[in-house]
Amino acid sequence: MTDELLTAAKEMQEWLTTQRRTLHMVPELSLHEFKTSEHCANEIAKLGLKVTRLWGEGFIADLDAPNGTGRVAIRADMDALPIHELNDVSYRSKHDGVAHMCGHDTHMTVALGAAKLLTRYRDKLKRGVRFIFQPSEELPPGGARGLIEKGCLDGVDEVYGLHNNPEMEVGRIATCVGAMTAAADIFEIKLTGRGGHASRPQESLDPIPAGAELVGMLQTLVSRRVQPGKPAVVSVTKFHAGTTHNIIPDDANLMGTVRTYEEPIRALIIEEMERMVKAVASAHGLKHEFKYLRGYDSIVNHESGVAAVARAATAIVGAENVDTSFEPKTWGEDFSYYLQARPGAFFLLGSGNKSRGIHEPLHSARFNVDESCLPLGVAVMAKLAL
Ligand SMILES: [Zn+2]
Ligand SMILES: [Zn+2]
Repeated sequence: MTDELLTAAKEMQEWLTTQRRTLHMVPELSLHEFKTSEHCANEIAKLGLKVTRLWGEGFIADLDAPNGTGRVAIRADMDALPIHELNDVSYRSKHDGVAHMCGHDTHMTVALGAAKLLTRYRDKLKRGVRFIFQPSEELPPGGARGLIEKGCLDGVDEVYGLHNNPEMEVGRIATCVGAMTAAADIFEIKLTGRGGHASRPQESLDPIPAGAELVGMLQTLVSRRVQPGKPAVVSVTKFHAGTTHNIIPDDANLMGTVRTYEEPIRALIIEEMERMVKAVASAHGLKHEFKYLRGYDSIVNHESGVAAVARAATAIVGAENVDTSFEPKTWGEDFSYYLQARPGAFFLLGSGNKSRGIHEPLHSARFNVDESCLPLGVAVMAKLAL
């Protein structure tokens, strides 16, 4: 069966390449995936599956199992990025300034391929399969939550998703139990005092020393407040105050990012950060504003889901090519919300090929994938569903 699946998926290579290139040429930004969604829905409809639109351009389609019970979901994201593609290829993006530089064209193609392949094995399905085509992964708050609120996981027992990874050679698959991506948040702080002449500081309330103190104090959040061994990052990446040498400014503005893998650590940092801002402002007689924008939650893979991915991937690419202790990435991904609602896992599909010069990172203007990863993704997803 496994050999048969892999052979059948490999026989689809030309069709898969055409699908991917067709989607690659018409990339669309988050929440504007009109042609993309229409193309995917048409291909799904050709297989005799009913398309149900749920949220934005997102839709689901069910492949029922006449001889099975339960349902597994496969998710693909559809949006592209505001990047001008610099690859000189025949299927280059036709939309100047927009391109599939995160490879979501690959993810859609894998889902379409799995749907096409699994319709052939409908009688052997132990459970039904739901294909979820999600808009807006790149733009928080993201499409996952919208689709979940509209019921995309109703009747689903498990959910799986993948991301191509050009840093891994084609043929390799990786995942890990627990946190796989970081929660990537943004903070903004404004300290407001009273500006004046730099020669008469006693008549002003200077926000600069307070801001400088705060930068130092924020560095102690990770070193003094977070339990040793728990990963966390606090980076102040912007400090803006003042205009020239002889004026004390009215305000100082700070900005930065927080990356964490566990909600209690994240909550602790938010609480302590707010307390520090308030205390420093008060000590200097300043007013303060503190804004904290939560990015996507961290993807936390379920043990059972990782075991299922490992079994499926081992059957397709061999145990020596499957890494189940992948080191968590600091990327953000809204697949996290599916895994908060249902068991399952997210995994990475090797899409790089150094010998062919395909190794540019995700979100680079020269990013590309080795298209021979497509049938492997299809076969693993199909195996997970069977
Ligand atoms: Zn991306
Ligand atoms: Zn992506």
